Amino acid sequence: MHAKRCYNRGVVENGTALERRFCRRQEIFCKGVIQMAYVDEVLEQVRKKNAAEPEFLQAVDEVLNSLRPVIEANEEKYRSQALLERLCEPERQIKFRVPWIDDQGKVHVNIGYRVQFNSAIGPYKGGLRLHPSVNLGIIKFLGFEQIFKNSLTGLPIGGGKGGSDFDPKGKSDREVMNFCQSFMTELCKYIGADADVPAGDIGTGAREIGYMFGQYKRIRGVYEGVLTGKGLSYGGSLARTEATGYGLLYLTEEMLKCNGHELEGKTIAVSGAGNVAIYACEKAIQLGAKPVTVSDSTGWVYDPDGIDVNLLKEVKEVRRARLTEYARARANAQYHEGRGVWSVRCDIALPCATQNELLLDDAKMLAANGCIAVAEGANMPTTLEATRYLQANHVLFAPGKASNAGGVATSALEMSQNSERLSWSFERVDSRLQNIMVNIFHNADEAARKYGLEGDYVAGANIAGFEKVADAMLAQGIC
Ligand code: NDP
Repeated sequence: MHAKRCYNRGVVENGTALERRFCRRQEIFCKGVIQMAYVDEVLEQVRKKNAAEPEFLQAVDEVLNSLRPVIEANEEKYRSQALLERLCEPERQIKFRVPWIDDQGKVHVNIGYRVQFNSAIGPYKGGLRLHPSVNLGIIKFLGFEQIFKNSLTGLPIGGGKGGSDFDPKGKSDREVMNFCQSFMTELCKYIGADADVPAGDIGTGAREIGYMFGQYKRIRGVYEGVLTGKGLSYGGSLARTEATGYGLLYLTEEMLKCNGHELEGKTIAVSGAGNVAIYACEKAIQLGAKPVTVSDSTGWVYDPDGIDVNLLKEVKEVRRARLTEYARARANAQYHEGRGVWSVRCDIALPCATQNELLLDDAKMLAANGCIAVAEGANMPTTLEATRYLQANHVLFAPGKASNAGGVATSALEMSQNSERLSWSFERVDSRLQNIMVNIFHNADEAARKYGLEGDYVAGANIAGFEKVADAMLAQGIC
């Protein structure tokens, strides 16, 4: 695209006037030198190197583009240290075979992953996703996002992510245990309480964490806080189960307050019906709002009387059943096959299921229906086009790396409790969580203002998360 280009050390290229005008949009033009902007240069390299990983490219694209003002202000320093190149390349990627035996004696082989992305500010920290859609690109996108999210919490945790294409759905407890033990038999070589501390994510709940922790202890012979999201009887933290959903509402409430709205009395559309969605609904109700939808991978429910959280927990956490069972038990609830949550009229939308579940058309429907705020409970649930549309149409938008950071923040509090060999009360953890979420919002807000991007919390969150990691990377030299 850029035929006449100079990369780094002031090589002069004489592009035609037309070429210069064309390039000026994206390139720095100085002293007769057309130099490609550092962000564009790195984006181009990342696209070439990772062409088969669309989710990773989407995440890098979003982050680097929103960091432009910071990068431009420090271009020489960052370029000379190849800071962005290092930031976009994981420190380590581990891919391994996970053989396990089902109840019929048949042997299966899944793939396990752990991407240790960035340890500049602390040990790698990030969940383990068990879902058939998992591949290296998905784990890399999640690990990349995790760097900034973890930094935003203000706690000393680096970014990582892992998982497998194993599907726990429909498997017996024994099959899940067989898988988890085999998975941990390999993973345990690379993790540790001061090195890399995985947690839950889609498909990895308390049951899976328990089996993995047992296997780690058995092989390594140490009782340490190597995983978070553990059961309360063996080192887990009170309020960790609730943390992501509760944190999402704490941040949403603060964002609304700072923009002249209140949460109380608002109607909320929620997607997902897992850990994040359930506790988002619970906290929304406690704060006086009314969630009216939930969804899973087969369909969604509209309950005009407001979601009954106890029933939802019974259906999803205890019976591990479909949402049809929820709808059957509620007089006015309607069950629909497929997607459709965002067609419901609401004041606030909380996407809490998975990546790329809120598309441009959904964003248009939400805005047309008078939605005032979207806050992401899931990781990257909103596509780039949908995000841009919402922001352009004055819908407040909180990106997941800020609004769902309550989970990892509370995981870090679980690590602190494990180190102290103490357990804090629910109230103490919850109040720390609330402070952290409020601070995250203000840090993102201030970072956006500092660079003249008031109200752009996507840019604000990326900038605030990035600055700390960048400083630490520069201080630690080329590594
Ligand atoms: P769960 O596995 O508990 O729940 C996920 C929910 O989303 C389920 O209802 C699931 O439906 C639905 N879902 C999953 N994949 C799809 C899909 N492809 N299409 C439609 N629905 C889907 O996961 P969590 O609630 O823990 O995580 C949800 C999101 O939040 C993820 O993006 C995760 O990375 C993110 N997150 C989670 C944190 C946590 O602490 N749990 C922390 C920070 C972020 P079904 O049951 O039918 O599969």
